[in-house]
Amino acid sequence: MKQDYEWYNAQLHNHTCHSDGRASVAKTIDLLRERGAQVLALTDHNAASGNEEFLKCCAERGVIGIRGNEISTYFGHVVGLGLEEYVDWRYMRPDDPESIFDLIHERGGLCGYAHPIRIGYPLVPGCSWLFRIHDYSRIDYYEILNTGDYLRSRNDMVIEEWIGKLREGLLHLGAVSALDYHGRPWHGHEYVTWLALPHRMENPEKSAMEAIRRQNMIVCKDRLIELNLVGSDGKEYIPGERVPDGPVRLRVRAEGDALPARPVYHADDADSRREIRPDVPFEAKGFAVVRLFDGQADFDHLVAITNPFHFGGRREQ
Ligand SMILES: [Zn+2]
Ligand SMILES: [Zn+2]
Repeated sequence: MKQDYEWYNAQLHNHTCHSDGRASVAKTIDLLRERGAQVLALTDHNAASGNEEFLKCCAERGVIGIRGNEISTYFGHVVGLGLEEYVDWRYMRPDDPESIFDLIHERGGLCGYAHPIRIGYPLVPGCSWLFRIHDYSRIDYYEILNTGDYLRSRNDMVIEEWIGKLREGLLHLGAVSALDYHGRPWHGHEYVTWLALPHRMENPEKSAMEAIRRQNMIVCKDRLIELNLVGSDGKEYIPGERVPDGPVRLRVRAEGDALPARPVYHADDADSRREIRPDVPFEAKGFAVVRLFDGQADFDHLVAITNPFHFGGRREQ
């Protein structure tokens, strides 16, 4: 089958010396490029002053740049992606976080729920989420893996919370990983958000934003492992797409030795979680989130997790 998209390595949460990052804008881009990043967002705390330089440096390096800022308050952080204009953190009131979500949308941005469960005071004041969200329909995506976290294991609680929200019917909620990069060198494996982007893009920043909004994403530990579903119509679907009702089959594609030696696959839908196998038909209700583990199905062995595939004709694209 001819694919009309290509997967891009994206890091959507990064800080530079315009807030508390260690490196300049150019240096930060270079450090992330060395690790394979092709799409980058600039999300400095309460600052948009790096945006112009960021777009210029990205263009010079052939990287797709997304402007933004991390609206950082004493009661929690929200990532505003794709913001051409600065959104001021002082508009965010403890009893009404939705007002800032609306402001982000009014300015054409997407609203990311940054590190929802994170240690806060006294270590990092403001990093834990103390707001009460009344309306999750006004958030666009969860950071299900914030790997700058001091307590990484709490990411598993965030994944479960996100899947719980999908089960409540909040099917628009996407999921991304976030390095929450501050310019330090890092070793070992980190999660990457892979974005499916069209071959031809007139405005790459807009196309990347559209792919995030449409949930055309899979989060993998480093390298891309495609976890697509083949519908009863024989067509292959990527995460975020609507799949015809009826049995589906998982199709796995990985380059080189990216696939673990003992792969274990799970699918969550509106009702349950179960183990699935590639090319063996299964049925999903409402949505399906597919996870790949290495040998053992727990958070420590998570290799990849898709955004939801949608069933039942409810989601418009
Ligand atoms: Zn933050
Ligand atoms: Zn941050």
